[in-house]
Amino acid sequence: MAQVAFIGLGNMGGPMAANLIKANHQVSVFDLSEEAMQALVKEGATAAPSAAEAVKDADFVISMLPASQHVESLYLGDKGIASVIPKKALVIDSSTVSADCARDLAEQLNEHGLRFIDAPVSGGVAGAKSGTLTFICGGDAADIEEAKVVLGVMGKNVLRAGEHGAGQVAKICNNMLLAVLMAGTSEALQLGRANGLDAKVLSDIMLQSSGRNWTLEVYNPCPDVLENVPSSNQYEGGFLVDLMAKDLGLAMDTAGAAGAATPMGERVQQLYKEHSEAGYGKKDFSSIFNYFEPKRT
Ligand code: NAD
Repeated sequence: MAQVAFIGLGNMGGPMAANLIKANHQVSVFDLSEEAMQALVKEGATAAPSAAEAVKDADFVISMLPASQHVESLYLGDKGIASVIPKKALVIDSSTVSADCARDLAEQLNEHGLRFIDAPVSGGVAGAKSGTLTFICGGDAADIEEAKVVLGVMGKNVLRAGEHGAGQVAKICNNMLLAVLMAGTSEALQLGRANGLDAKVLSDIMLQSSGRNWTLEVYNPCPDVLENVPSSNQYEGGFLVDLMAKDLGLAMDTAGAAGAATPMGERVQQLYKEHSEAGYGKKDFSSIFNYFEPKRT
């Protein structure tokens, strides 16, 4: 069994680390939140007093942090842990960050004699809990193969998109599409409701028609159509509006750099920005459903 250091125990990292423990890996955890660490200690993890302590003796270092700046400050700079990670360790960052951040990290960790892969995930909190995430990886094929001993416990698919940074590009493309689907599904459901249809009946019809998609099937944004989804729990938990807004910012930066045309991405980025400004930043991203409430005069 491997020695794993897991840093960042939020909505995603917490259940991912718990699955590693269930598979009998030795897991040393660190998070800025003491409460998040104690939840993992109850599962059988060792709480470290700092990230530098957590990575001692690690075979794998896994990070699951909010955004690029958190990942950069964890590993790099004066207080970064790059210099204390054992040389045998493989560093895996599963946060969603910019492709440039992932490439830069690969290069700088390499200067410390360390191997790195970017391995952002798809599948949400439900996938993190059930160990059915999809890991979308960038880096050397041999390193990705080696990582399967831990990624295979937390996910059902480990896919290679290409070299360092390619995992993040693929993840960003996926999330831009997800945002478009979530907003479009919300708009269609609200249109049906405004015309007297029941959202569950309409969802069942669209699920058997050409509008079928993942948000409708497993993450319906209308409350009480599905059980155990954020929309049926006041949009608590899940994937925050502000994190989706961050990913759409990454998508627009990536598009701009490549000269790609992304009018749908631009529109949905604007919708999520307005939705966050309306006070929904810490709610699940399916709460965009409320953006499409009919305007009554
Ligand atoms: P979260 O905000 O719930 O958790 C982040 C955790 O990181 C928090 O517990 C925070 O205390 C900790 N943290 C921040 N800085 C730290 C530091 N320097 N050292 C140690 N701990 C630190 O976020 P999340 O929903 O778990 O998402 C994590 C990443 O996964 C994000 O990049 C997000 O875009 C991505 N993601 C999230 C989902 C989802 O459904 N929530 C799905 C796919 C990908």
